[in-house]
Amino acid sequence: MDMSKAIKCETCTLRARYDRNPHSLLGRFWRWHINFCPGWKMYMKSLSEEKKEELIQKYSLKSVDKKIK
Ligand code: SF4
Repeated sequence: MDMSKAIKCETCTLRARYDRNPHSLLGRFWRWHINFCPGWKMYMKSLSEEKKEELIQKYSLKSVDKKIK
């Protein structure tokens, strides 16, 4: 996955669905996919430590945050 794909995670429509309604089918699909999506991991690596920590808290990324940091 190239870097331009990772940057799209900032404005991802599925992510927006999750943010609007975490219980929606598409929202839950998005949350599930970030457990292993290489594009999301690349996006997370591109962020500042502060922003990364914010998203780890927001999306409860306990199991994957060790791999991202
Ligand atoms: S990699 Fe995942 S979070 Fe990023 S833009 Fe694609 S679907 Fe959205």
